[in-house]
Amino acid sequence: MTLSSPADDRSVSAQIVWTAVVLAGCMAAAAILSAWWAVGRIDERALSEQIQTIESALFDTRSRLTADQAALSIAGDDPSTPFNDELDRRLTITIGHDRAYILGSDGRVLRASVNGRYAGRVFHLSDAAVLNPIIERLRLQIAQAAFHDPGLRATNAMGISALETVGFADGSQGFVSVRPIGPPQRSGPESPGGDYLLVSIKQIDQSMVQAIGKQFSIANLRRVPHPTTAAWLALRDEQGKILTYLTWTPVKPAQALVGEATPALVAMLLMVGGAMATLLAWLRRTSLTMEASRAHATYLSLHDPLTGTANRALFEQRLREARNFEFLAETKVLLISVDIDHFKQINDSWGHAAGDQLLKEVSKRLAIEMPEEATVARLGGDEFAVIHPGILSDGQARWICQRLVQCTKAPIIIGTERIDITLSLGAALENGHEIEPEELLRRADVALYAAKIAGRDGFTLYTPEMDREKRERRALELELRNALITGTGLRLVYQPIYAANGGDIAGAEALVRWAHPTRGMLPPDAFIALAEECGIIDQLGEWVLREACRFALDAGLPRVAVNVSPVQLQNDRLAERVLGILAETGLPAERLEIEITEGVLLQNSPQMQDTIRTLRHAGAGIALDDFGTGYASISYLRSYAVDKLKVDRSYVQLVSTDRAMNHIVRLIVETGRALGMAVTAEGIETQDQRRLLTEMGCTYLQGYLFARPLAPEDMRAMLEPARRSEADLRQKFG
Ligand code: C2E
Ligand code: MG
Ligand code: MG
Repeated sequence: MTLSSPADDRSVSAQIVWTAVVLAGCMAAAAILSAWWAVGRIDERALSEQIQTIESALFDTRSRLTADQAALSIAGDDPSTPFNDELDRRLTITIGHDRAYILGSDGRVLRASVNGRYAGRVFHLSDAAVLNPIIERLRLQIAQAAFHDPGLRATNAMGISALETVGFADGSQGFVSVRPIGPPQRSGPESPGGDYLLVSIKQIDQSMVQAIGKQFSIANLRRVPHPTTAAWLALRDEQGKILTYLTWTPVKPAQALVGEATPALVAMLLMVGGAMATLLAWLRRTSLTMEASRAHATYLSLHDPLTGTANRALFEQRLREARNFEFLAETKVLLISVDIDHFKQINDSWGHAAGDQLLKEVSKRLAIEMPEEATVARLGGDEFAVIHPGILSDGQARWICQRLVQCTKAPIIIGTERIDITLSLGAALENGHEIEPEELLRRADVALYAAKIAGRDGFTLYTPEMDREKRERRALELELRNALITGTGLRLVYQPIYAANGGDIAGAEALVRWAHPTRGMLPPDAFIALAEECGIIDQLGEWVLREACRFALDAGLPRVAVNVSPVQLQNDRLAERVLGILAETGLPAERLEIEITEGVLLQNSPQMQDTIRTLRHAGAGIALDDFGTGYASISYLRSYAVDKLKVDRSYVQLVSTDRAMNHIVRLIVETGRALGMAVTAEGIETQDQRRLLTEMGCTYLQGYLFARPLAPEDMRAMLEPARRSEADLRQKFG
């Protein structure tokens, strides 16, 4: 049997934690990516700044070449002797030109200087091929300028010069500056461009490049044939052809910063990560706690706190589910209403704690009997219900009900006491989808009602007639209440009880009748159970007792026996009321006998023992009615001191025909007497029975053989002779 599993929901805590983890991961990734991007951008910018620095350093070096040449001219060298060792020295050491040539107006080399040393009157091997075209172009340029301005005297003052980046035949590179120098040898249109020219070459060699690197703090700046790092710069000639490459180790300020900050960053990340993890753990714990308390709340909202079985809410839910199931399975749903017989009395006499224990035990036993797919629910008080889907036949339903009825037969021990209880069951078996849950429950309840009427400790299966019976019973109940209020219709009849020896009337048993307006005279069996059930048995009992006491006193009945139902006995004020009525009517307690049924003893409640003790103590007698029909054993007789046994009619009737029964009755009578009790044989109808029971030792006899239950007047008349003779005797002897 399933009680509940509200944990079907997806784990909220896992959802929260995963969301947080994914969010944190996304944020971390975004932060890293944007930092990465920023680092890249910063380092890129730094690289382009380095490129610019190198380019302008090269540009400066190149420009200085021409400026230096101009400075030489401006210094005012004697044009007649401009070419000497001093010039070589100045060009190389002071200014740093690697090679220099002075060309005459006829184009011949007048002096060559290589690395500050005089080198004859020829071009350096690798220079001629490169220099000649430049020189030719320059001379042409000067000639054209002179042509346009014939008055021009000093061409070198015109500022015309050539400055180029070139690759030499030996594979090296350099800057070349060519500039007119000194006074023109000739001027005039016949020799345009025939100036003295100073040619300066600055090699772009490794040392020059390294010097730039050093000056501008560019690490590892050098010439390479092909760049291998990301930091490189192409050196091109005037036509744009790549001559060589410069590479260096780029500065990466952002990367360096990141590198330096990394330990701190890692530490920070670890701290943030730790904090996140702690937060997540806390979040998880919190949401787990929330989930647990939510599950608990759901459980509480669907379960009975005392027994842990389903409550009404879950019951209704399961009933609806069962109907759907039935629809699919084409089977029937069995709904059983379960009631603990006389639970109220048990609760009253044993206390509520014991009552609670009993409810727990019953719900446990019901649940054990039922399979997984069934639901046991407590709907309130001692009201249980069982939903059992998938039933194929009436027989199967009956078998299940029978098992449930049997489940309380094993002894129930609460504390140190044994409490015997029985269950009444009402079952409705229907095609679930054809009937509303409310109607199904109503039918089970009607069947339960029928089970109770049928004597409890059993089950009934709903039939439509039960509805009619229930309606009728309800009407009867109202009429009985009315009869009690108005005092009309109810009356007592008296059946005499005779002393076995002598045959005197020892007393009479008061038996209630109801003269029903439409149904005629009703025997007690027709309405005592109803009165018990609807809670008016106490009222009815009081009426009977008062009436019987009055009659006994009035009619001079030596002793009157009054039947008290088990339900009345559960009332802890019974003794008080009986004694109150005795006092009220004036009947001595010794003339009253209370008849209780044997079954009552089985309930074995301390409160009932109290009631019996109080009544006996006051002088009233206690008779055990219908002895032999219940389960009371001799040991019960010992623990409950009673005054009389009434051997049940069913035994008496068989005493003359059934040998075994004869023996049993003899045993009962002997036992009773041995325990000091009087024994009445009730229901004697034949002389045989009378003889046998008298022989066996019965003290009193009662039955149709002697007298049927009599109307009060008849009883009174029957007592009359005895009364008269008593009066006569009193008169005679004063
Ligand atoms: P009971 O106390 O055992 O009463 C004896 C029943 O047996 C009476 O039935 C009586 O009419 C019947 N009886 C007596 N002698 C014979 C006989 O020789 N042959 C046959 N066949 N029957 C005989 P009654 O009056 O119908 O009462 C039935 C039961 O109703 C009683 O059984 C008693 O338990 C209960 N009862 C009667 N009056 C009251 C009452 O005022 N209060 C309560 N609580 N129960 C009552
Ligand atoms: Mg009786
Ligand atoms: Mg009886």
